[in-house]
Amino acid sequence: MLFDTHAHLNAEQFEEDLKEVIERAKDAGVSNIVVVGFDRPTIKKAMELVEEYDFIYASVGWHPVDAIDMTDEDLAWIEELAAHPKVVALGEMGLDYYWDKSPKDIQKEVFRKQIHLAKKVKLPIIIHNRDATQDILDILKEEGASEVGGIMHCFSGSPETAKRCVDMNFYISLGGPVTFKNAKKPKEVAAEIPLEKLLIETDCPYLAPHPYRGKRNEPSYVKLVAEQIAEIKNVTYEEVAEITTRNAKKLFGIN
Ligand SMILES: [Zn+2]
Ligand SMILES: [Zn+2]
Repeated sequence: MLFDTHAHLNAEQFEEDLKEVIERAKDAGVSNIVVVGFDRPTIKKAMELVEEYDFIYASVGWHPVDAIDMTDEDLAWIEELAAHPKVVALGEMGLDYYWDKSPKDIQKEVFRKQIHLAKKVKLPIIIHNRDATQDILDILKEEGASEVGGIMHCFSGSPETAKRCVDMNFYISLGGPVTFKNAKKPKEVAAEIPLEKLLIETDCPYLAPHPYRGKRNEPSYVKLVAEQIAEIKNVTYEEVAEITTRNAKKLFGIN
């Protein structure tokens, strides 16, 4: 059984054929999916999906690209939703220095506020990092994020950075890029970080694994990520599936 720890089934790209996408996920052995909401419409849709499907859970938070749009009311709403039994994490949150819609200081403030909230409601956090590794590590440390721990989602850094995150009580989640031929760092991370600290995800509809690179991604393709990790670690596919699923359930508090 596979656990896709980061999927945007709440994205408009799935509006037309969500039922078929979910059928294919089940056929591929996906037993659980965390749908990530990161602004008002996607949080709302994620909460609808957890009501509709028993194996779908939600993570709710505010994306750093849109940090400038987050109001106090939004944060209060996220706090309210955090009490829902199927909301298993907060995020995705973090820093994104690739896009400049939200200034860095506002991104940092919104990130810190969400870490505070996670500590208050005692939920793990899902971290989005683009070109901001050092600032993210600094903020996680300053805010004591290891108290709740969480996930470095679609991790693309070095094995050294991955180890520092593991030391701060974070899991390293690998997605489609680990299957790309030219993706040196994700493959090194897969080799060096123990399975007990790894998770798998799609980040669909983005970042489809080889041989679907460039196409729409979907949860059934998480199997290709697990197969690639098994090949790199020279262990069985079943072992990767079992341990990464166990890791996810432990982190999210799912039986
Ligand atoms: Zn992200
Ligand atoms: Zn995402």
